[in-house]
Amino acid sequence: MSTTIPQIYGSLVFNDKVMRDKLPKDIYKALRKTIDQNTHLEIDVANAVAIAMKEWAVENGATHFTHWFQPMTGFTAEKHDSFISPVDGGEVIMEFSGKELVKGEPDASSFPSGGLRATFEARGYTAWDPTSPAFIKDGTLYIPTAFCSYSGEALDKKTPLLRSMEALSKEAVRMLHILGNTSVKSVKTTVGPEQEYFLIDKEDFKKRIDLKFTGRTLLGAKPPKGQEMDDHYFGVLKPRVAAYMHELDEELWKLGIPAKTKHNEVAPAQHELAPVFDTTNVAVDRNQLTMEIMKKVAEKHGFVCLLHEKPFDKINGSGKHNNWSMTTDAGTNLLDPGKTPAENIQFLVFLMAVICAVDDYADLLRLSVASAGNDHRLGANEAPPAIISMFLGEELMAVVDSIENDTFFGAKEKVQMETGATVLPHFFKDTTDRNRTSPFAFTGNKFEFRSLGSSFSVSGPNVVLNTAVAEALSQFASQLEGVPESELQAKVHALLKQAIIDHKRVIFNGNGYTDEWVKEAEKRGLYNLRSTPDALPVFIAEKNVKLFTKHHIFTESEIKSRYEILLENYNKTIHIEAKTLQEMVNTQFLPALASAVDKTVTLAAKKKKVSEELPVTGEIKLAKKLSEYYDEITAAEEKFEADVAKAEAMTDELELAKFYQSVILEDMAKIREVADEAEGLIPKELMPYPTYADMLFYV
Ligand code: ADP
Ligand code: MG
Repeated sequence: MSTTIPQIYGSLVFNDKVMRDKLPKDIYKALRKTIDQNTHLEIDVANAVAIAMKEWAVENGATHFTHWFQPMTGFTAEKHDSFISPVDGGEVIMEFSGKELVKGEPDASSFPSGGLRATFEARGYTAWDPTSPAFIKDGTLYIPTAFCSYSGEALDKKTPLLRSMEALSKEAVRMLHILGNTSVKSVKTTVGPEQEYFLIDKEDFKKRIDLKFTGRTLLGAKPPKGQEMDDHYFGVLKPRVAAYMHELDEELWKLGIPAKTKHNEVAPAQHELAPVFDTTNVAVDRNQLTMEIMKKVAEKHGFVCLLHEKPFDKINGSGKHNNWSMTTDAGTNLLDPGKTPAENIQFLVFLMAVICAVDDYADLLRLSVASAGNDHRLGANEAPPAIISMFLGEELMAVVDSIENDTFFGAKEKVQMETGATVLPHFFKDTTDRNRTSPFAFTGNKFEFRSLGSSFSVSGPNVVLNTAVAEALSQFASQLEGVPESELQAKVHALLKQAIIDHKRVIFNGNGYTDEWVKEAEKRGLYNLRSTPDALPVFIAEKNVKLFTKHHIFTESEIKSRYEILLENYNKTIHIEAKTLQEMVNTQFLPALASAVDKTVTLAAKKKKVSEELPVTGEIKLAKKLSEYYDEITAAEEKFEADVAKAEAMTDELELAKFYQSVILEDMAKIREVADEAEGLIPKELMPYPTYADMLFYV
C-alpha cells in the first residue's frame, strides 16, 4: 500500500491531533489554553504531557530527546539525552518527566553571550516553548525551547521573539477593544518566509576553500553566460534538481512544514522554496529546520545547498522574503481590507500603525537585516536598497491620499465607496501590482519585508517589526482611549490623517534602484545605512533602547550584549574571508598563474630550439600579459597583508568593523578584479579549482 501525502504530513510531529489522541481531556484543554492564550503551565500538566510525548516518541522510533534552542550564533543547538533509566536486574525503562520537558540545563558556556553570562553565571537554561510543536528527527524527540541565563536574560533568538509577540498582542487587543471589537482576546503575528538558495555539485564545492570556509566565492570570473537571458527564472526543473526538491518536500512535510511553492530563481543554479505561513514563532522554528533539511537532503543528492547571501559575484544573490500579518484569535487577518465599513476602519488603523512603525523604526529594521553577507545585496541592484521605504500600490495610495486631503476617494472601477455611513473610504482588496525593488511592500492582505538575507534566522526582523508596530498601536490607543463612541469615527479619521501627514515620507511607489531615489530619500530625511558597520550603532541609540525596554523585549544589558555579538560576528566573518583569500591567492591562484607563464615561455623556448624561424611573438605577448597580472596581484596582495596585520592589531570592535568594511573589503575587491581578468588567460587544465562555468552550469 502506498502512502499518501496526508498520511505522511506531520507524521513526525507532536501536533494537535496527537495531543488530542494521547492526552487526558483536562490535560489537553490546559495545554491548549497555554498554547492559545499564553497562560502558565502547571507542573502536573507538564508531567502528563511528558508521559504522552515520550510514549508517542518511542512508538515512532525515538530513543533520545533534546532541548532544541537558537543561540545567538544564528544556528540551532541541541544536546541529546536518552530516555533510558537503569532499574534493578540490569534492565532499563524508558523515562521522561515533566521536569525534563519543561527545563534543561545544557553546558552552554561556549555560546556567544556578548559578556552577559560572564557577569552572572556560566550556566544557561532552556525552557520549553509549548507554542511550537515538538517533533522527531533522526531518532530524537526535539523539544523547541528558549535559552536564558540564570537570571533570566535572553541568550537566544526565541525569547525576545516571544516577548515581541506578546507586546504586539497586548497593544493590538487594546486597540481592537477601543474600536468596539471587544470579544478579541489575543492577536498573533503570522509569517511566511520565502527561502532562496543555490545548489551546486558536491565535488565542485569540495575543491573550493572559499566556499568551504566562507560560504561565498572570493575569486571567479563571470562566465560568458550568466542570468542575462532570464532563461532560468521559473524554468523547467532539471531532473536532478526535481528529484532533490521532491525529497525535500517529503522530508519537510513529515515534519509538518507546509512547503508549498518551489521554482527556479533568476540566477543559474538558484532556486526558491516557500511554505504556507504560520504563527511567527512556529514559522521561525520551521524556517531554521527547513534550512537544515535543505542542506541535509542536498548531501544525499550529491549537491551542496548554499544559503549565503552572495555565493557568486556579479550574479544575483539569495534573500528571504518575510511575509507578515496579524490575525485575531477569531481568525481575522487585520491587514485584510475586509468588506464592511467597520472592518475597513480596523484595517486602516492597523495599516497606518505599520506605516508609522516602519517610518519611526526604519533604522532598526535596516539593522535587523544587516550582516556581512547581506551587505553584498542591499544596495546592489538585485535586492531592495539599504534605504527602508514602503510600497502601497496605486489603489491603497489613493485611499491614503483621500484621507490626507479630506477628498472623496475617487471612483476607479474596482473601487467601491461607502455612501454616507462613514467618513472613511471603502475599497476592495486589490490585486496590488508588483514592485520588486521595494523593501517593504503591501501585497493585498499582508506586508512583505524583502530585505532579509537567505541565511538569516527570521527571528530578528520580526522582533523589530512586532515591537515597532506594538509601539505605534500603543500611541494610537493612548489618543483614542476614553473617546465617546459618537465621536470615535471622527477622532480616528483625524488620527489617521495626522499619521499620514507625519509619516508619508516613508512611502515610495517608484523604482528603488535609481540614483534619483537615493537623493530623494535623503531629502525626505530617510536613513541610508549602507553597510553593517553603518547600521549596527542604531541598536544602542537612545530612542531604540527606549522602545525595547518599554515593551520588555530587551533589557539594556541584553541590547548591549547583542550589539557586541553582531559586531564581533561581522569582524570575524571578514577576517576569515581575508585569511581565506590570502591562502587561495598564495597557494592556488598565483601558482596557477606562474604555471601559465611557464607553459607559455617553455613553449616559446622549445619552438626556438626547433627553428629560429618559428614565430614566438604570441607566446611572448601572452607571457608578458600574464606576468603583468602576476605582478599586479602580488603588489595588491602585499598591501592587503599589511592591512590585515593592521586589523589584527586593532582593539575597538566598531573601529575594526569600519576598517574591515572600508579598507579590507576594498583590498579584496582589488585583488579579485585583477585575478578575475587573469583567469580568462589561464589554461583550463591549470585552474586549481572549478570555475563559475563549472559550478553554475553543472546540469
Ligand atoms: P506571492 O508573494 O508570490 O504573491 P503568496 O501570496 O502565495 O505569494 O504569498 C507568499 C508567502 O506569503 C507564502 O509563504 C504565504 O503563505 C505567505 N502569506 C500569505 N498570507 C499571509 C499572512 N496573512 N501572513 C503571513 N504570511 C502570509
Ligand atoms: Mg514574494
